Parts: sequence; C-alpha cells; structure tokens
Amino acid sequence: MADVLVVGSGGAGMSAAVAARDAGADVLVVTKSALGASNTGRAQGGIQAAVGPDDSTGDHFEDSFAAGHEAARPELLRTLVEGGPDAIAWLAALGVEFTRDGDDLRVIRCGGARRPRLLQAGERTGAEMVQALRAAVRASGAVVRESTELVALRPDGDEWIATLRAKDGAEDEVRTGAVVLAAGGGLGGEAARLGEKSTNHPDATPEVLEMAIALGAEATDLDSWQRHPTGALWPEALAGYALPETTRAYGATLHDASGERFVDELAPRDVVANAIIQVVAEGRGAEAPDGARGVWLDTTAIDRDNGAGFTADRLAYVHNRYLRQGVDITKERVLVYPVLHYRNGGLVINEHGATTVDGIYAAGEITGGVHGTNRLMGNSLLDTVVFGRIAGTAAAGWATR
Ligand SMILES: Cc1cc2nc3c(=O)[nH]c(=O)nc-3n(C[C@H](O)[C@H](O)[C@H](O)COP(=O)(O)OP(=O)(O)OC[C@H]3O[C@@H](n4cnc5c(N)ncnc54)[C@H](O)[C@@H]3O)c2cc1C
Repeated sequence: MADVLVVGSGGAGMSAAVAARDAGADVLVVTKSALGASNTGRAQGGIQAAVGPDDSTGDHFEDSFAAGHEAARPELLRTLVEGGPDAIAWLAALGVEFTRDGDDLRVIRCGGARRPRLLQAGERTGAEMVQALRAAVRASGAVVRESTELVALRPDGDEWIATLRAKDGAEDEVRTGAVVLAAGGGLGGEAARLGEKSTNHPDATPEVLEMAIALGAEATDLDSWQRHPTGALWPEALAGYALPETTRAYGATLHDASGERFVDELAPRDVVANAIIQVVAEGRGAEAPDGARGVWLDTTAIDRDNGAGFTADRLAYVHNRYLRQGVDITKERVLVYPVLHYRNGGLVINEHGATTVDGIYAAGEITGGVHGTNRLMGNSLLDTVVFGRIAGTAAAGWATR
C-alpha cells in the first residue's frame, strides 16, 4: 500500500514524488527503466522562466498564449508562467547549476519569445535536472521500483489498484490512495506506429495516456503533435537527433537549396517547421546522399556573428556530436528536416493537477491544455516542475485526507 503512486520518472514524476513526500505521503515511484531515464533527460535547449531584468510573467503568458494559437486554458498557462521563477529557485536549491553571466543568470531569447527568457544548465539542461531530481527522490525516502511498468489500473472503492510488471514479466498488484500519471506524451510510440523518426526516448509510449482515457479521464488536443523544426537529416547516424533551438537563437539561419532564406528563424516552432515542410514540398529542398530532402541550417553563421570559438564553447555538445560523424558545423552547414517531438495535447487537468477522475492526478507532457496547440520551447521542462510539484502535493492531500 502506498498513499501516492507516481508513474514515470521524468521531470514531472520526480518533482511530484518529492512534493508528495514533502507533504507527508508515502510514495511509490514506478518507472520503465532506470530512475530518470526519460525524455526529460534528453532536453538540451533549456527551461523558460521570466527571471530576466526586462521580463515579466505577463509577457511570458502573452508569448506562450499566442504561440499556442490561443488554445491554452488561461488558468493553466497562468499557473505555469507564474510558477516559473519559484521553479527555477527550487531546482537551484536541489543543485541545478544554471549558467550565469557574471552574477546574473544567463537568459537567451528563443523562437516565439519577445524577451530573453531561456535558462540553461550548461548545454544539457534536462540531464542536469534529472541528476538533481534523482538525488532528491532518493533522499526523500520515496520507494522506487525501476524497470517496472504500470500495465493496468482499476478503482476499488476510494482507492486504486495498480498492476505492475517487472522486466522479467513478473506481475504484482499495489493498492494506492492516489495516482500521479507522469508517463509523458508517448510520441515515440506514435512515431514507431507511423514509421516516422522522433526525438523521443524509447520508453516514450502512450499506453498510460490510453489507460487513463479508458478509465474515463477527459483529454484534449490529442492529435496536436509538435515537430521539432531542425531534426538532423544527415549524416545518417544522427537521424532523429534535434539540433537545439539555441543554434537558431545564436544566429544559425535556414536556407533552401538555392541558398535563399525563407522564414524568420525565431518564429514559433510550428511556423518554422511548416515553412520547411512547404519549401521541400515545393521542390526547393536540398538532397541528402540517401535521397531524403531537407533544408540547410547554416550553423557557420554562429561563429561569424559571435566570434570564432563561440560554437565550440556554447554549443559544445552538438558540435562534438557532429564532429564524431566527420562534420564540423563551424565550417559546414547541415541538412535538417522537422521531426516528431512533442504531444501538445493530453489529459485535461485543473490548476491542482487533478484529472477528471477522482484520485487520479497528472503532470507534464501527458497532460493537455497548458500550452494550447503549439508549445514554446523551454516551456515543457518548466511544465514538468511546476505541475509535477502541484500534482504531487494535491495527490498527497487527497490520499491522506
Ligand atoms: C530530444 C528532446 C529535447 C527536448 N528539449 C527540450 C528543451 O530543451 N526544453 C523543454 O522545455 N523541453 C524539451 N523537450 C521536451 C521535454 O523534455 C519533455 O516534454 C518533458 O521532459 C516531458 O517530461 P515528463 O516528465 O512529462 O515525461 P518524460 O520525461 O517523457 O518521462 C516519462 C516517464 O514515464 C515513464 N513511463 C512511460 N510509460 C510508463 C509505464 N507504462 N509505466 C511506468 N513508467 C512509464 C518513462 O520511462 C519515463 O520515466 C525535449 C524533448 C526531447 C525528446
């Protein structure tokens, strides 16, 4: 028996587990692979929060609402942006070292944002977050069952009975007072069904989302999927890897086969992705050695704009990933095409992270309504922390009421 069962250990699950423990609940975390193995750990770009000197949560709200085609639920989006500065402080207290310029946090302006708002912890913000959250979960006293997946959930009076399956196939049942579903959007699984490439972790499958819907949980915008504009098209070994948004924030430009620019590189993601798809559909794309078509991302512009050595310093991870494949992105432009990345929609929640089914809470990419039908980059990592903590606290309150 656990007061709160947390399903998944990305940013949302681990934030929820820590918050539920802080609220005094007994917590069991189940997760498909190792604790923290998730899409969260893959995030490179960064996390948005209105902490810059000229920024405000009002501006953050307006930028996000417009980018999401005004389809976000305003009360959820407001909760997200207003929780931003505190989420950053919480992560910093857990040990995430956000990159600074002197004494100030470094903030970068990214697509769809009118102010510099993106914070980074080095170049692999998600991995840094996972490391800090994993330590916090371990220290919290939550029980963790790794290599264990939720395969069924059924109500039993006021409680829930979860069927768990270990990697060796052994199944058992656990009784719980409340559940936090933090199993992600599952777009990796959708991409596999369609035979498309995706940026997602192999564990990103949608069965938990489907389970909740089968139990009667309302969902919204399930078919609204986001493509990352700059998925690597070549070399083949990098296919599915997304060059982080920061490459464009630092000055990389997009060009068709004839070298012409065709979109504002700092427009919202869906605008940039759709422009690339259209250019290629019109026959203006450039061809990779295997015949696939995409557009050029001129990464050589970054050092031209910012000085030699900037790419090697600020984009060391992507630089090295390409170098290992024999491509120096400071000297050569690279071929890109949009790749499946993020499910905008998901389970309907309220400001307390409650789904429409009593006792079932949800947070992170498995939910819908926070971002509308397009998400600003950096807002998802923020979502996992803000709503993960909210859902964990509320689930603990429900289970111990
Ligand atoms: C390559 C990449 C780069 C990204 N970059 C950024 C970025 O820079 N900034 C940003 O804001 N967002 C970024 N995103 C999006 C963001 O990382 C994710 O949307 C977010 O981290 C999702 O967090 P989550 O906790 O909701 O789910 P996830 O991190 O996907 O975690 C889901 C967890 O659920 C577990 N799980 C799944 N099914 C089951 C089951 N049946 N039983 C038990 N456990 C299960 C998984 O094993 C995993 O631990 C990026 C995503 C990718 C893929």
